[in-house]
Amino acid sequence: MSDILANLQAVRQRIATAQQACSRADPVTLMAVSKTFSAESVREAVAAGQSCFGENYVQEALGKMAALADLRPQLEWHFIGPLQSNKTRQVAEHFDWVHSIDRLKLAQRLSEQRPAGLQPLQVCIQVNISGEATKGGVEPAEVLPLAQAIAPLPNLRLRGLMAVPAPSDDPAEQRRAFAALRHTLDTLRTGGLAVDTLSMGMSADLESAIAEGATIVRIGTAIFGARPRAAH
Ligand SMILES: *Cc1c(COP(=O)(O)O)cnc(C)c1O
Repeated sequence: MSDILANLQAVRQRIATAQQACSRADPVTLMAVSKTFSAESVREAVAAGQSCFGENYVQEALGKMAALADLRPQLEWHFIGPLQSNKTRQVAEHFDWVHSIDRLKLAQRLSEQRPAGLQPLQVCIQVNISGEATKGGVEPAEVLPLAQAIAPLPNLRLRGLMAVPAPSDDPAEQRRAFAALRHTLDTLRTGGLAVDTLSMGMSADLESAIAEGATIVRIGTAIFGARPRAAH
């Protein structure tokens, strides 16, 4: 059995066990984060039943998409990295989801540049939940006004929130950060927005994220192995 197949099975089992532990029957989507790994690795994961993939770098992702064009109808591509304004057109044209919206201008450009004939681009706002100056995302207090400005954009569909909390080995601390994102999503619902997505949880903390309501977990290392250091 290939490593990727065995790793995917192990991650699926971790997700199922975490759902049982908190009696959750609603679905948790597994996103395979394939940044720095080859199109062939993605193809292997597809053969093992994986269809949802996350990428951080636009050029790298476009290369993989071209190499995997034959599989496009079965694949869902999620952009999860920092997004620069000059890359929005490529993202609007090639991705299904963007998780890293942190300003209105980006959302407006993506909506304007989304080609007619494609489904609306599914988007999440990235929230700086740990209060770290270096991490991307908007402050929790700024999320509701930004969400209210994004929701009416015609070619986007606002689905919810994403966060990358500061890494911690302490499950209680992991859960505090994920609970804070869940509470922020609740404020959007109270504000009248129909949002359903909490994109949170990575290889080291997916159990804590699921316990706090994650609907999409983003898993790289546990599926594809360790990345070269420079690529974080
Ligand atoms: C790289 C990355 C992941 C995957 O992290 P792992 O620890 O390898 O599972 C998830 N989310 C984002 C935003 C990432 O950049």
